[in-house]
Amino acid sequence: KKADDQLLVIFGASGDLTGRKLLPSLFELHVRGLLPNRFCILGASRTNYSDEEYRTFERQHIIDEQKGKEYSEEQLDQFLDFVYYLSFDSNNTDEYYKLRERIELLQSKYQLPDKIIYYLATPPMMYEVIPRCLLESGLNASQSTDGWRRIIVEKPFGTSFESARALSEHLRHIFHEEEIYRIDHYLGKETVQNILVLRFSNGIFEPLWNRNYIESIEISATETLGVENRGKYYDSAGAMRDMIQNHLMQLMSFVAMESPAIFEPEPIRDEIVKVFRSLRPFKPKEIDTQIVRAQYKGYREEKNVAPDSTTETYVAMKFFIDNWRWSGVPFYFVTGKEMPEKKSEIVIHFKSTPHKLFVGQCSGGSCNKLTIRIQPDESISLKFGLKMPGAGFEVKQVGMDFRYDSLSKTYLPDAYERLLLDAMLGDSTLYARSDALETSWKFIDPILHHWKEEGEKNLFYYQPGENGPFQKIMLGMVEKPCSCKSK
Ligand code: NAP
Repeated sequence: KKADDQLLVIFGASGDLTGRKLLPSLFELHVRGLLPNRFCILGASRTNYSDEEYRTFERQHIIDEQKGKEYSEEQLDQFLDFVYYLSFDSNNTDEYYKLRERIELLQSKYQLPDKIIYYLATPPMMYEVIPRCLLESGLNASQSTDGWRRIIVEKPFGTSFESARALSEHLRHIFHEEEIYRIDHYLGKETVQNILVLRFSNGIFEPLWNRNYIESIEISATETLGVENRGKYYDSAGAMRDMIQNHLMQLMSFVAMESPAIFEPEPIRDEIVKVFRSLRPFKPKEIDTQIVRAQYKGYREEKNVAPDSTTETYVAMKFFIDNWRWSGVPFYFVTGKEMPEKKSEIVIHFKSTPHKLFVGQCSGGSCNKLTIRIQPDESISLKFGLKMPGAGFEVKQVGMDFRYDSLSKTYLPDAYERLLLDAMLGDSTLYARSDALETSWKFIDPILHHWKEEGEKNLFYYQPGENGPFQKIMLGMVEKPCSCKSK
């Protein structure tokens, strides 16, 4: 299905996200013939570029990001022909007349209907300013009966429950809720969407998908890199805000939600909110025993990080969903920087048999487990016990694996490709709704508040490249050993 003819305005056009993700994804959509028939892109930021200079600047980004993919020079030229640039300060209301003029010019040149998507790829402090200026300059709503506006807002969407709610209220004052697309690029990943298909298109998993058969669920996202050049942002955010509040919470909602009655955006988003509302809030004492926060050694020497920073670069936590399906089943989140391995995955640990009959038979939640690997090497694997060939009845753990790359002819779109296309089509299924975001912040806020009060107390340290003792703490959930606290 092709999206309506439209114009895309990207604020923050000279930035990293636009160069590495947005324009390469839009180019890929062009190569695949998925962009609207009449379409153009207007990039806006303060850096001084002419249209041509901007095209040259972004051409290189696209070439770098498209390595190994099939496309022609001609396709790249065609694409860049409909990319334009406006140098303006989006902080300054007086400059929005320039934006309006440019939009009208492009709409007239390409004979576009008054259908515009705004993408906020700027620092978060601009998420309040740009929509307000769009309102003041009358660019927030279409005057035409068949026109529309949509706005895509990047993460982080707030830094607390209060700030997320204030931002949502501010945006809802300017745009209708259905015009606001809060992006979480994890939901654009094929393997994440596949959680819903795996669960709700197969008769074999759903009967087992509950407290009667599942021992625990582990959701992890670890990276080998440190904060790199994002020290300033990261030091004010930390792993809880950067990874758990958004990406891991969204993954958890797909794993834990009930089936919607129909596969449409609002029923699905209703089910997501119900999961967040069922999360058991932490009592202050539980925060110390069920959540581990840690910082990698050397973090405080990173560029733009405070020398006495207590920001966590690692979190492991155990929590519960108090509803009919999940009562008593522990869920775990693990996320960290400078870890031995880069991977994001969901592991469903099934309960073992009630009685052990065979030699070598495994017991506990590591025997029968379903692993949904989100990145890298997207795959799904199931572990179970089988008989070793020969005499006797010795059991060996084996696996059945499905790897996405075995669907060799099937192209795996980048998360941003899928999400940009969805926004152009007006499909918000994979975008977060305000009530879901606010409810998830409500769960996270007391933890952040407690950590702020504690400062360095109960902050652990780990060597870059090592897992440290946290995995054990998480799985056993024992009292924190004092020995792991050392700089
Ligand atoms: P960035 O490289 O610092 O780019 C920020 C952009 O905003 C630049 O184009 C900058 O251009 C523009 N900008 C800054 N102040 C402005 C102002 N007053 N008026 C107009 N434009 C202004 O940041 P980024 O990494 O692309 O991230 C952008 C947003 O996406 C952030 O909110 C970030 O949290 C989010 N995000 C980024 C990534 C990623 O992979 N990079 C991933 C997820 C989310 P000028 O200086 O030319 O104005």
